[in-house]
This record gives sequence, structure tokens and C-alpha cells, in this order.
Amino acid sequence: MANPWSLSGALRGVFGRKTIDDSTWDDLETSLIGADFGPDVTEQVTDELREKVARYNTTDPADLRRMLRETLEERLSKLDPTLKLSNRPAVVLVVGVNGVGKTTTIGKFAKFLRNFDRSVVVGAADTFRAAAVEQLGTWAERAGVSIVKPQAQGQDPASVAYQTVEKAVREGIEIVIIDTAGRLHTKGGLMDELGKIKRVVEKQTEIAEVLLVLDATTGQNGLAQAEAFIEHAGVTGLVLTKLDGSARGGFVLAVQEQTGIPIKLVGQGEGIGDLTGFTPHVFVQNLIG
Ligand code: GDP
Repeated sequence: MANPWSLSGALRGVFGRKTIDDSTWDDLETSLIGADFGPDVTEQVTDELREKVARYNTTDPADLRRMLRETLEERLSKLDPTLKLSNRPAVVLVVGVNGVGKTTTIGKFAKFLRNFDRSVVVGAADTFRAAAVEQLGTWAERAGVSIVKPQAQGQDPASVAYQTVEKAVREGIEIVIIDTAGRLHTKGGLMDELGKIKRVVEKQTEIAEVLLVLDATTGQNGLAQAEAFIEHAGVTGLVLTKLDGSARGGFVLAVQEQTGIPIKLVGQGEGIGDLTGFTPHVFVQNLIG
């Protein structure tokens, strides 16, 4: 399979010619914009590269490619992508607008942790959508982890969160992943609900991570929709989904720089194995080739 994030097609025009000339810069800008780096990052990166090329007095496109890799990796490495899961239990709240891939991500994340021999319990605290609870149940089964479900539709989400943490403490389960609601039209209520879940959990233990799931294919729109979470939910890390086949790899850098929140996981498919940790070096290698 072709590398899903690769910019190399678009960049072929930039690096494929014999020498760096004026049109190189136009082509570079066009391909960065096309890959969703956004106007600000595109301009900054292009300016920085122009300066470097002048300083090193090179006209070799291979040098430019190396410099682009270095610049992107350096910028992506400014924030720490490590998941902080050393508490016992480590409670991870997963938040985000419906449709971004939250449920799928939780399933994949549970499996990812199982692969590292971590024990996991999932809490279905999106209690209003019966289908969401069912879907999460299916993913938990696939991942081979236990799940705490509401006893009735609409049960207080905070009580499901509480019971999930309680089960983890009782059974010595290492990691708790809590699904939360993502209804967009009731922002105030949603944030209150999240606040209550957090307060209840914090009475039992510290919250290790609040992960915001974003759909990379929706770019700036998706980010605008998630603003309430960024402002009010105490997000500690981002998960970017649907990076497969979207050719939107540049959004990774744009979103991290705009929010100041590290990307911690990336989703690149609908399968249970299609989630990885975020490693700037690997990401840039895949992106630039
Ligand atoms: P939720 O409403 O946020 O819980 O979203 P779901 O987990 O139900 O996912 C919505 C859709 O996105 C489903 O069809 C998923 O299969 C799909 N999806 C989720 N993550 C990815 C991903 O990384 N890549 C692709 N291609 N599809 C994804």
C-alpha cells in the first residue's frame, strides 16, 4: 500500500528538478498548502527554508528536502507526545464531537494497550445513545477488554465513570478509558457533563489524560467545532483520526501549533490495529520520503 501520508507526489515537482530556482518556492508553497499545513505554517516554513538555502549557499534540491525534514521534525518535537499512564489506575477521558472516530479510537487504543500487556477497562459514559454503548461494547470485545455499561439509557454519565474507576481499583486494572458524549448542539450541557465526570473521577484518583479526538479530514472546520473542548475540558493530548488516504498530513503540524496541545496518537484506518503513537521523526520520514 502506498504510504497514506506521503507528500512525495506533490513534492516531486519541488525535489525532482535539477536545481533550486524561483519556481521551487511556488511549488513548495502550493504543495504545503495542499497538504493542509495552513497559510501560517506554510509561510513560516518556506521563509525558514529560503533563509537556510541562502545561508548554506546551496542549489541542490536534495539539500532542500533534508532541510524540510529537519524543520518539520524540529517544530513537531516542541511538544512531548508521550502518554502519561503511570498512575494506577490511569484514567483517560476521551472527548470529541460525534462522528470524528471517538468510539473506533477507543477500541483501537484499548487494543494498542493490550499489545503492551496493559490491563484495560472501558467505561461507556456516553449514556444517551444506546447505539454508542453497543458499538463500544463490540470494540471492547474485539480488543479483549472489559467494559462498564450504563444500567439504563440516560443513566448519569458520571456514575458510569465512577463505577468504571471503582472496578479498576477493585480488580487492579491498570488503565481506564472513558468514552464521553459528543453532541454538538448542547455545548453548555456537554461541558457541564464533562466537568461532573471529572469531579467524580478526581474524588477517586487523578485523571491521567484527557484526549481530544479530531478528524484530520475536516481540518480547520473540525478544529473550530472542537473549540469548546479545548477551552473547557483540560485537554492534555490530541488524537488525529482518518489520516489514511486523506493527503492531509500537514494538518498534524498546523493543529499542534495552533492549539499548543501535543498529538499523542494517530489513527490511519478503520481496523483495530490502525492506531499508533505519534513519533515526529517517523511521521516526517513518511510524509517527505
Ligand atoms: P464517533 O461518533 O466519534 O464515535 O465515531 P466512530 O468511531 O463511530 O467513527 C465514525 C466513522 O469513522 C466510522 O465509519 C469509522 O470506521 C470511521 N473511522 C474512525 N477512525 C478512522 C480512521 O482512522 N480512518 C478511517 N478511514 N476511518 C475511520
